[in-house]
Amino acid sequence: MSDDCIFCSIVDGDIPARTVHETDDVLAFLDANPLAPGHALVIPKTHAERLGDLDPDLAGAVFDAVAAIAPEIEAAVDADGANVGINDGEAAGQEVPHVHVHVVPRFDGDGGAPIHAVAG
Ligand code: C5P
Repeated sequence: MSDDCIFCSIVDGDIPARTVHETDDVLAFLDANPLAPGHALVIPKTHAERLGDLDPDLAGAVFDAVAAIAPEIEAAVDADGANVGINDGEAAGQEVPHVHVHVVPRFDGDGGAPIHAVAG
């Protein structure tokens, strides 16, 4: 727990979020500013700012949750695919300093960019 971390506050229930998946170690909730319907964030419940700060077992638990919910979210919003990614560090666009994996549903012909186009 980090005192001024918005995602730790979500884990603690002090800030509301729409939870889509929860285990002892991991929470997944809908992004408050979705890039697409069903855009979700998967976070470790224990605070870690960057991917390199994350305990390997916890990283595994986070990825297990991503693998479990991505197909469920796609089905729920009738998507055709999903971008799954992490902005790791300010230089990469990380705004919330608590590791989170974006699951962004994608739709055939939606015109969005693939992850490999992000950094040009
Ligand atoms: O990867 P990055 O740090 O830029 O993404 C942070 C994400 O957290 C944004 O997509 C933002 O909409 C989301 N967010 C949220 N709920 C909050 C604060 C931020 O879903 N209370």
